[in-house]
Amino acid sequence: MTETLALDSDVRFLRGVGSGRARLLERLSIRTVGDLLYLFPRRYEDRRQLTAFEALRPGTTAAVLARVVTVENRPTRRPGLTLVRALLTDGKGYGYALWFNRRGVDRLLPPGTEASFYGPIELHRGKFQITNPDVEVIDEGEPDSTGRIVPVYPATEGLSPLWLRRLLRQILPQALPLLVDDLPEEIRRRRSLLDLAAAVEGLHYPRDGDHWRACRRRVAFQELFLLQLGLALRRHQARKGGLSPRLTPMGPMARAFLDALPFPLTEAQRRVVGEIGADVSLDEPMNRLLQGDVGSGKTVVAVLALLAAVDGGFQGAFMVPTEVLALQHHRRLSALLSPLGLHVVLLRGGLPPREREENLRALEEGRASLAVGTHALIQEGVRFRRLGLIVIDEQHRFGVLQRGALAGKGESPHVLVMTATPIPRTLTVSIYGDLAVSVLDELPPGRRPVVTRKVESKDRRRLLSFIDGQMREGRQVYWVCPLVEESETLDVASATSRHEELSRLFPKRRVGLLHGQMASREKEALLAAFHEGAVDLLVATTVIEVGVDVANATVMVVEDAQRFGLSQLHQLRGRVGRGAEESYCLLLGDATTVEGRRRIEALCATGDGFRIAEIDLRLRGPGEVCGVRQHGLTDFRVADLLKDGKILDEARREAQDLVEIDPSLSRCPRLRDGLYRLYGEGLDLAVTG
Ligand code: ADP
Ligand code: MG
Repeated sequence: MTETLALDSDVRFLRGVGSGRARLLERLSIRTVGDLLYLFPRRYEDRRQLTAFEALRPGTTAAVLARVVTVENRPTRRPGLTLVRALLTDGKGYGYALWFNRRGVDRLLPPGTEASFYGPIELHRGKFQITNPDVEVIDEGEPDSTGRIVPVYPATEGLSPLWLRRLLRQILPQALPLLVDDLPEEIRRRRSLLDLAAAVEGLHYPRDGDHWRACRRRVAFQELFLLQLGLALRRHQARKGGLSPRLTPMGPMARAFLDALPFPLTEAQRRVVGEIGADVSLDEPMNRLLQGDVGSGKTVVAVLALLAAVDGGFQGAFMVPTEVLALQHHRRLSALLSPLGLHVVLLRGGLPPREREENLRALEEGRASLAVGTHALIQEGVRFRRLGLIVIDEQHRFGVLQRGALAGKGESPHVLVMTATPIPRTLTVSIYGDLAVSVLDELPPGRRPVVTRKVESKDRRRLLSFIDGQMREGRQVYWVCPLVEESETLDVASATSRHEELSRLFPKRRVGLLHGQMASREKEALLAAFHEGAVDLLVATTVIEVGVDVANATVMVVEDAQRFGLSQLHQLRGRVGRGAEESYCLLLGDATTVEGRRRIEALCATGDGFRIAEIDLRLRGPGEVCGVRQHGLTDFRVADLLKDGKILDEARREAQDLVEIDPSLSRCPRLRDGLYRLYGEGLDLAVTG
């Protein structure tokens, strides 16, 4: 044991831990005493009631307090199987405890020992017996596991829940007083919140259900409050940036663009364009999320928003997650907008220096009205003359920070983020704060659901002849190869060999190959060829997952589909079914895991992106689905963004009020320090005095 224990003391130095077990603890993300305090039980066992032998009922699990009468270690007829049997009495009745292969338990329990036994109860030849019970010898100390609600910790190989329980019991009395409650007293009183240390203790050893709920609420509040406080501070800092430009919705450029479109807007598109128009006519920054299923036509809405900036005399920026998508958008927008005299530049990694220079200059001098690009848009040298509005497509692919970086290229530009993954309100609020939401809840007319089928490997030949038929009718086909090992090189290898094979099998067809490691020029050329129908079959890695839009493509084959995530499969499927022809999504491979099978079944069962997102949320958790996980913003120990909406609202209100009256948090320095330690970097908070 270390001399003085601190929250950041390494667990290695705790009694009974050592470096071997410390490594195992690390698997549970536990390195320090503080981490250990926040390792909360996975469940609890109610051992408050101690039952007399007479009152036991077979088929239940119960706790008995009894004295050992005799104990014997008996060999059995089966080799390798040992049996310890103890005769017990609670003073009135008798019963047995039975352990299989639990060595040493007989030595722990010499006759006369008083102990508690917790386990399943059976009736055997008229006597009750408890099989493989958890046992605790009663001595002078306060018992851990007797007559109370007992925590069961998440076990990992080599660390039993029992061992963890002992470790925590040992550490709690010294470690809990180290927890400082930095929540302002006023808030604690107003919201009737327990003291932090008491709540943490209560999560380990709750007295009853109500006590547990109160403790949980306190710790969840703490977690949600800190994030909300960080967000409120950030907003406060951003607001000092000044007013946003008033833009001009449905001005001449927007109208000309609409006239050039080959279709009228859907009702939903019209509504959302109106909502955006209302926002950007004000000098307060728009902060709006557009949710719309794959294929619902978000791009057109985005372009109209960007044109509101142009019509108002400002520039617009359109950030997308992949180069393939940037290329496509740039080509389309240029085709539609150059006739109107607008210059649209493309910014992506690996542009030839001359082109990059020229594009940057055009943006800085204001000759270019719009920029389409990948992450390259937020790089240092990129400067706009008058950036008025930014659109971020497939928001879940970007982090909160990147969005901030792009907004920083202008003076409080309006922001529209778009996603095909419906995000629960609790999550949008907790990650983005005050975010208005628009929904495209209508697909363009004439769309038919994509026929989605699972195809086992043994039916591969039939699949090949089916796509042959489709190509003969002039349709185009995607063939997506899976991630092999999280390794690009291997992915590329598998796609390359599939490309060779399919070229051989379809000698008369034009078979293309697209993957992330190709030179941009090649990607661009291939994509253009596919758009023009000059490629029949496109073999690709997941680079085509989002955004690619070719109406004549009617078949999406996904190889080894069980390896993909559910939302990812839905996105891939969304690449087809964009024209009037019947379209197919064929999931090739034999699902070997339960999870994989479930995903594939879910996809075959529904085409509704909202349904799919719901299922995905359940399978993977919200942080993962919405792409915020990697920023550590939602790595809560206790709070659950899907369930704790009410606590979240309270925490948010308190955080906003606090920032309102004390924006530098000068009156609560400890809270401020804790906040900066946790989120200063993640939220890019300015260090203020
Ligand atoms: P997503 O919401 O997935 O980004 P896109 O913006 O790529 O969808 O649009 C999908 C396809 O639907 C595109 O080919 C687009 O041209 C077409 N589209 C968009 N709006 C309409 C509409 N109102 N009527 C018909 N087709 C439309
Ligand atoms: Mg899109």
